[in-house]
Amino acid sequence: MEKQAASGSAPSPSSMGEAWARIRGRLREEVGEAEYRTWLRQMTLAGIDGDEAVVVLPTRFLRDWVRSHYGDRLRALWQQENAAVRRVDVRVGAERPTAEPATPGEAAPRRDALTEPLAARSNGAARAQEPRGDWSAPLDPRFTFDTFVVGKPNEFAHACARRVAEKPASPGFNPLFLYGGVGLGKTHLMHAIAWAIRGGEGQRNVAYMSAEKFMYRFIAALRSQSTMEFKESLRSVDVLMVDDLQFLIGKDNTQEEFFHTFNALVDAGKQIVVSADKSPSDLNGLEDRLRTRLGCGMVADIHATTYELRLSILQAKATAAAVEVPKGVNEFLAHKITSNVRELEGALNRLIAHANLFGRAVTLDGAQEVLHDILRAHDRRVTIEEIQRKVAEHYNIRLTDMSSARRARAVARPRQVAMYLAKQLTSRSLPEIGRRFGNRDHTTVMHAVSRINELMQADSAFAEDVELLRRMLEN
Ligand code: ADP
Ligand code: MG
Repeated sequence: MEKQAASGSAPSPSSMGEAWARIRGRLREEVGEAEYRTWLRQMTLAGIDGDEAVVVLPTRFLRDWVRSHYGDRLRALWQQENAAVRRVDVRVGAERPTAEPATPGEAAPRRDALTEPLAARSNGAARAQEPRGDWSAPLDPRFTFDTFVVGKPNEFAHACARRVAEKPASPGFNPLFLYGGVGLGKTHLMHAIAWAIRGGEGQRNVAYMSAEKFMYRFIAALRSQSTMEFKESLRSVDVLMVDDLQFLIGKDNTQEEFFHTFNALVDAGKQIVVSADKSPSDLNGLEDRLRTRLGCGMVADIHATTYELRLSILQAKATAAAVEVPKGVNEFLAHKITSNVRELEGALNRLIAHANLFGRAVTLDGAQEVLHDILRAHDRRVTIEEIQRKVAEHYNIRLTDMSSARRARAVARPRQVAMYLAKQLTSRSLPEIGRRFGNRDHTTVMHAVSRINELMQADSAFAEDVELLRRMLEN
């Protein structure tokens, strides 16, 4: 039962209430029931204030979460309902506008990050998805198998994760040890496994936490002399997932405790999933017996991303955000930002936020401007000279023609290609590029870029040619 409330604000409270109900309905469809219940159910509409819809949540934690994960979506949905609403303010509000009868025993709910989203579910309908006990850290609703893009570098880890999610504790897959560099999707895969198991049959109790949290809990238990309780509650889970295990290096007592918990759970036929930044054998400083134990299930690494994977991820994320990002922009980002997925995603999010904020389409120029700082840091240092040389060679013209005044098509076209590639592959500005091509004006460069874009669209052989040049320059 959802309550919509629009507390006395223009245009008409009832139409606003209906719009709000539709928005919530849409969100619920988009994110799924479990996610909706965890994060969004407690949202209420406080009213419309000028061009701003004010959405209220009961805690700062929920507010921050909703703001960062659903803020853009809320705004877009409001815009669809009512073009006059241009912003959405997500705030903490003490009370819901429409009082709900208090559930007995919940008179003074604890406002705490871990229990809050769960306390919202008093009717038991989603029990299967709830972790029992308060072991688990909240799962990120975006980190599901659906949103995980599979490619060569991660297909093995992904297949293992799927397998564990479908059949926890199957022989050969216990423990599952996922490792790889930062920002490559370890946490994403772990949450995906947890979501899948919680959402599946069997009412399994999944506890996901960081190794840091594990240690923190353990130490707290030691202090309050409740280690027995700690052990018991931990051993009652069906699936234990510990993220970033490298954190336990040098923390001998915690390692010891983890080792015992680990053994007890595996012996009881429970699934363990662990992630780290290195393989078990490379985790120096981890006790040998633990290392051996960790390595005896399935060890899967996530490799650095490839261009193809980066491109697919960008496309998937743009589609999910319902923002039109031109292919050229995605290609540009996939070429430029090669460090990890987190940075790639960060760059795309910034573009999308900018486009939303100013109501402008995402373009290559815009992208280069907005992401200037990131791009500088990732500059592959392909120089304009190199581009000119390669392109001249390729079209069999003289290097000096790159900056000459000749206008014959046979030299003008390759020159335009070189300008286009300079724009795509370096972070030089249009005027800078113009200067390097015989002191041409920035509008000439702009024209070249759009001309080449047009030609590439119209003529696939030409497009392939340019692509080929680009690849050569990138390597
Ligand atoms: P790690 O835990 O390995 O440091 P994360 O799992 O936190 O990395 O991933 C960083 C970000 O990149 C997350 O937002 C995650 O959703 C995203 N990401 C990583 N790999 C993929 C992928 N294959 N498909 C979609 N998103 C991904
Ligand atoms: Mg992580």
